[in-house]
Amino acid sequence: MATTGATTAIDEENAILRRAPAEIQEMSGVFEQRTADAAGRIGELAVPRSGVTVETPALMPVVNPHVQTIAPARLEDEFGAEILITNGYILSQSEDLREAALSAGLHDLLDFSGAIMTDSGSFQLAEYGDIEVTTPEILDFQYEIGSDIGTPIDIPTPPDVGRDRAERELSTTQERLERTHEVETDEMLVNAPVQGSTYPDLREDAGRHARGTGLDVFPVGAAVPLLNAYRYDDMVEIVTAAKRGLGTGAPVHLFGAGHPMMFALAVATGCDLFDSAAYALYARDDRYLTVRGTEKLAELDYLPCECPICVAHTPEELRALDDDERERHLAEHNLYVSFGELRRIKQAIRRGNLLELVEVRARGHPAMLDGYRALLDHADRLERADPASKDAFFHLSAESARRPEVRRHHDRLERLVPEGHVLLTEGGENSQYDESWRVVPPFGPFPRHLSETYPLTAEVPERTDRESYEAAAAGIARLANANPETAFTLAHRDWPASALEGVPGRVATIPLESMDEYDAAGETDQ
Ligand SMILES: [Zn+2]
Repeated sequence: MATTGATTAIDEENAILRRAPAEIQEMSGVFEQRTADAAGRIGELAVPRSGVTVETPALMPVVNPHVQTIAPARLEDEFGAEILITNGYILSQSEDLREAALSAGLHDLLDFSGAIMTDSGSFQLAEYGDIEVTTPEILDFQYEIGSDIGTPIDIPTPPDVGRDRAERELSTTQERLERTHEVETDEMLVNAPVQGSTYPDLREDAGRHARGTGLDVFPVGAAVPLLNAYRYDDMVEIVTAAKRGLGTGAPVHLFGAGHPMMFALAVATGCDLFDSAAYALYARDDRYLTVRGTEKLAELDYLPCECPICVAHTPEELRALDDDERERHLAEHNLYVSFGELRRIKQAIRRGNLLELVEVRARGHPAMLDGYRALLDHADRLERADPASKDAFFHLSAESARRPEVRRHHDRLERLVPEGHVLLTEGGENSQYDESWRVVPPFGPFPRHLSETYPLTAEVPERTDRESYEAAAAGIARLANANPETAFTLAHRDWPASALEGVPGRVATIPLESMDEYDAAGETDQ
């Protein structure tokens, strides 16, 4: 066909028009954050190839194309799954499914109308040392079968390996991410896995590099060995490091995380996507998921759950079922619990009490407590993401004293300028002083007119803990050090010595009982 100058110009214009949606998408991103709490957020992941929007945090049930414990259509209709994940590599190697996937497409093959993410065979590579496919080949296959979110072949470097190996494997992963641009992926989103073993600086570099590739979704990889060993504190460290590099706008998938007991912690750390193979794998093994840990069906006298399976059966009845039916029932229970916990987390984010939910979960298992404490080690980062105003602050444990809201109040104290002789008191106002501020552990001092503002409306226990008094003392120190010209007196209710030691020497301290003798009648206790 002859090519005139005019048709070339039209072709160019058409090419630009075809490109335009992708470019606009890249500018606005496919992920939008709606509501935030701690580093957790409710967001929307736009999946253009299927034209669906997935609300995050989202759970992707893993569907084994050969063994469907629960049919994908049921995952969608009965459990509310908006997205699932299946293995593109297994499909590409399967004699009976490969052609069907190519001709019918993944959505018809699996009978699922939501978004479908495909994995690449990285797991098989790590497991067997070698696979028969390159990144451009497997990515092209994922595109051809209609995947919504494809994955290149990264190298999942396990925890605790030598630094040389972690660096070498990370650079291979990064080369492969760059090669994804050789493949025509059109509207298919592409995962950019973040590796780096247990080295926070490598995870951060990997995050920055992954974000720089312009790819779309960011799985934090090789977390499974940490999760299997209940190393939730290390999980928090690698996710936090990856997010420092990725920035807050990137959707993060905690790859391989499917146990509901750690969803709240992982969401509060900033994870948006989870994948559960656990619901089926645990069921096959007669294990029963709960938000407090895993139970063995053989050891249960009661079913501690309100889902339809547990309401309709006793443990005895479940044990009496044949293997397939028992596995399916347990898988259904496991899914109900997992999706239920995600709804609870989303409601907590809306309400602004996600950290309270994490505290409750942290009481379910000592390893979760370690994870929560590791999260609070990063309270400064949480403070930047955390909204300034929420419903209420519940002080539930010694860890509450380290929450980002306390840190933010202490930062604010440095900017307040009281004058003259200021009484900081756990009691009522006293006219003998120029100003009379309230003191509430763990926040410390504040002017009375702020009493009705968040987080000073906090519900705190009367029998509070040492950490709470110590945090209040730290707040007094911040205020006193910022105001060297002002005289301060602290009237306290029997604070422990460790807290009083944190109060600067130039702040006079007196027990509140001796203060009460001076209180004039008619003065109000707020
Ligand atoms: Zn149940």
